[in-house]
Amino acid sequence: MRVLLIEDDIMIGAAVEQGLKDAGYAVDWVRDGEAAINAVQGEAYEIVLLDLGLPKADGREVLRYLRGLGRRLPVIIVTARDSVDDRIDGLDLGADDYLVKPFEIRELLARMRAVLRREGSGSAPLLSNGKLSLDPATHQACFLDKSAPLSAREFALLQALLARPGTILSRSELERQVYGWNEEVESNAIEFLIHAVRRKLGSDAIRNVRGVGWMVERAS
Ligand code: CA
Repeated sequence: MRVLLIEDDIMIGAAVEQGLKDAGYAVDWVRDGEAAINAVQGEAYEIVLLDLGLPKADGREVLRYLRGLGRRLPVIIVTARDSVDDRIDGLDLGADDYLVKPFEIRELLARMRAVLRREGSGSAPLLSNGKLSLDPATHQACFLDKSAPLSAREFALLQALLARPGTILSRSELERQVYGWNEEVESNAIEFLIHAVRRKLGSDAIRNVRGVGWMVERAS
């Protein structure tokens, strides 16, 4: 699942980026409003984390732009501006939630899960196709009688597959959902992750469609 993080404070941005990666999100981090608007034009994000005080284009301007896109894109404002007026403003402009700095990363992650759940973007309390299930809060996966905790990247991969059961996802689509743009991706990285998940859950958990990609079965 791909996140756009818009934050000009280097310390906060680096901490949030790491926290998101540890939780299995692919993160693109931009540091000003113009870069944020450019990023959204080039990539289909599942969720946006938006600071309000930003260079070049203010967070409000960015939010207005996002809301003018004509497609749903959940936005959580993450800011030090904590007056009631600021919060009302942000929510009126169409933010889905509002989190005031300083905050704990686990609260941000819980709010992201809640917003994504409302959107139905594959972050239900438990993702499942009947045989295979995945808990976004704990990264615990189960397949038939096997159960194992997944690493952040293994989780990201299986979440992408389980969000669209019965659909074959290509290597590049999976890479997009697992890796942010500043990360080196080895050519066999996806195979490596698939192998790791199968070792934990059994080789039938993920189906390989040779030359096309991978899928998990749709519930029958
Ligand atoms: Ca700022």
